[in-house]
Amino acid sequence: MIRYCRRCVMPETKPDILFDAEGVCSACRHFENRAEVDWDARRAELQAILERYRSSDGSNYDCIVPCSGGKDSTYQVIRMLELGMNPLCVTATTDHLSDIGRRNIENLKRLGVDYIEVTTNPVVRRRINRLALREVGDISWPEHVTIFTIPVRLSVQLRVPLIVWGENSQNEYGGPAAAAEGQTLTRRWLEEFGGLLGLRVSDLVGQEGIEPRHLIQYTYPDDAALAEVGVTGIFLGYFLPWDGWANAIISQAHGFETLSHVVEGSMVNYENLDNVQTGIHDYFKFLKFGFGRATDIACMQVRRGRLSREDAMTIVRRHDGRYPSTYLDVPLDEILAQIGVTREEFDRICDRFTNKRLFLVDRSGELVRDEHGNLVKVNDDNVPA
Ligand SMILES: [Zn+2]
Repeated sequence: MIRYCRRCVMPETKPDILFDAEGVCSACRHFENRAEVDWDARRAELQAILERYRSSDGSNYDCIVPCSGGKDSTYQVIRMLELGMNPLCVTATTDHLSDIGRRNIENLKRLGVDYIEVTTNPVVRRRINRLALREVGDISWPEHVTIFTIPVRLSVQLRVPLIVWGENSQNEYGGPAAAAEGQTLTRRWLEEFGGLLGLRVSDLVGQEGIEPRHLIQYTYPDDAALAEVGVTGIFLGYFLPWDGWANAIISQAHGFETLSHVVEGSMVNYENLDNVQTGIHDYFKFLKFGFGRATDIACMQVRRGRLSREDAMTIVRRHDGRYPSTYLDVPLDEILAQIGVTREEFDRICDRFTNKRLFLVDRSGELVRDEHGNLVKVNDDNVPA
């Protein structure tokens, strides 16, 4: 039986999460601790850091803001501009950019910033998508690598030491206390929590014709280079109370565009709009751990008192972990064709990464599916099915 947090709707199968004696998850406890935070002091701390890194004569950028063009990065840029910073916005091109994703990037530039987009070789990129899907069940692995490596590489090359990241995912999503309380993003944080699943960049060499020269942008700068420039990554979410929903509202007021319907497998229309492979990424999280994007968002809303636990459960039952037949209205077959995977192989890979203890199986041990190909969890809440 799957155990769920008694306060939000997160299952204990989520990696790095801990449940206490009262059955409450560590993400809920981290959120509770936010009430104790002196946000005025944190804001003053942020201002002092920005002052320290601001270019004294305007000859270089004050900071780098890694940007996907989503609601959070749009919000980060708005805040940096309000605080009088001159940021360089950096996008690591996503795996399969959607039309709305492109429009939101153009909108981000129109906030009034300089902007660099770094695109890795798309031919090699698709091979890595396919390889990572087959080997670690994560189509988005190259994206997880380059969203971290590319801004840090530019920080070194352009000698702009301060990088302003968004939230510390270990805080909102409940990682170990030391990692959750951290305000800086280091190589160690990246290796431990960046979602690399034990697959190293160097492991790719020699597979599918991939050579070291294809992997330049996937490589994190070495310690000497980081130290020489004094690269420092801070999480804005440590200094300002972080709320994805509020970020979306603020960003929309600055031209950010949302989808006309709830994103497939999610429960809102304002996030993960840029990469059409995200539906596959989120579905594999569901197959491995029994929760998807709808659960993540429902939990954040419950913690902030905007949704009752009961309503959250109802929404999760309705939306979470649906078979990704489309994402952002793009058909699955079209998404798979781009990376050279057939539907038959995709379904076999899904089966291979499914944790069969979390889903109903029939007498012959085959996974039970409804008419839309959706799996059925062994239990939806803390009661036997
Ligand atoms: Zn919880």
